[in-house]
Amino acid sequence: MRQRAARDQKRLDSGAVTSPKDLESLQRELASLAKRQGDLEDIVLEVMERREAAQARATELSGRVDAVQAKVDDVTARRDAAYAEIDGEADTVTKERGLTVADIPADLLKLYDRLREKHGGIGAARLYQRRCEGCRLELDLTELNDVRSAAADTVVRCENCSRILVRTPDSGL
Ligand SMILES: [Zn+2]
Repeated sequence: MRQRAARDQKRLDSGAVTSPKDLESLQRELASLAKRQGDLEDIVLEVMERREAAQARATELSGRVDAVQAKVDDVTARRDAAYAEIDGEADTVTKERGLTVADIPADLLKLYDRLREKHGGIGAARLYQRRCEGCRLELDLTELNDVRSAAADTVVRCENCSRILVRTPDSGL
């Protein structure tokens, strides 16, 4: 388009076009080309502005993606550390249980495991201040008397939840 305008302008300047009609037509074409060029420049400018805005938005979004990824990485690292800690704790508890179990008679251990399975992981509970810490109920007088009179090596159980009761100096007997 620019070439065409330059060519027209050259023809006009050369004085080769003498007919008024041709001159007028040439000038009209030049004006039209100038307007068209202006319009195209406006479009180019608008496209460039939109491209810049899009690039700015892309940069912003990319920054946000990076920030979210950093958070995900952080949480993942913390979760993995927690898993490792839990695994370590489970190992320790399993070893401790192994040592403890060695001293417990087989039938008592069997009873304990059965109760533990039935009562959400707690097969034995401390008797604390006359209360079973498994079901949180206070033992009544008759039950307390039964526990009191039971020999130290007798396995006593909560009449309410049936868990094994562990007597301690704080049992309130
Ligand atoms: Zn109980």
